[in-house]
Amino acid sequence: MRIDLRELGRRAGAMQELDRTVPAPPDWRVELIGVPAGAEAHLRLRLESVMEGVLVTGDAEVPVAGSCARCLEPFEDTLELGIQELYAYAGSTTEATSEEDEVRRIDGDFLDLEPLLRDTVVLNLPLAPVCTEDCAGLCVDCGQRLDDLPADHTHEVVDARWAGLASKFASSSGAPGETPPTKEN
Ligand SMILES: [Zn+2]
Ligand SMILES: [Zn+2]
Repeated sequence: MRIDLRELGRRAGAMQELDRTVPAPPDWRVELIGVPAGAEAHLRLRLESVMEGVLVTGDAEVPVAGSCARCLEPFEDTLELGIQELYAYAGSTTEATSEEDEVRRIDGDFLDLEPLLRDTVVLNLPLAPVCTEDCAGLCVDCGQRLDDLPADHTHEVVDARWAGLASKFASSSGAPGETPPTKEN
């Protein structure tokens, strides 16, 4: 995602609009959620030539797919990410007074958007994504999604029923469908 800056030029105040759809690389992800590789990321950016370099502002819209941290259900969503970043010219004061990893740099006539996009996406991906804000998670007893179960789902009731059935079977002679253990002679 290298942007050719020759069209923009170095005159302070010059501007260029960028409206582009790009395929997501495979590393826009964290453990439970990420942008599917090859999915379309939509960029609406403005490049503005300033004294020290090029200011990139705008937003990126990226589709994400993940698993809910509470109920493990897969889900999809779209993230809208704001972008504002200065790329410094080689030899500018900003470049001279910043550490290597503090400022993004312009490489000759080009500006590489990819590291900026990756950082922006990854820093905005939730570490504990949820399928819905009020997802109730899983039942600790049976592991089913609580949102899929009736509101009165509890295991005391179920256990009591099973206990009743169990005692009924125990008192009858042999379970149905089973041959009673008898010995021939
Ligand atoms: Zn969930
Ligand atoms: Zn349960």
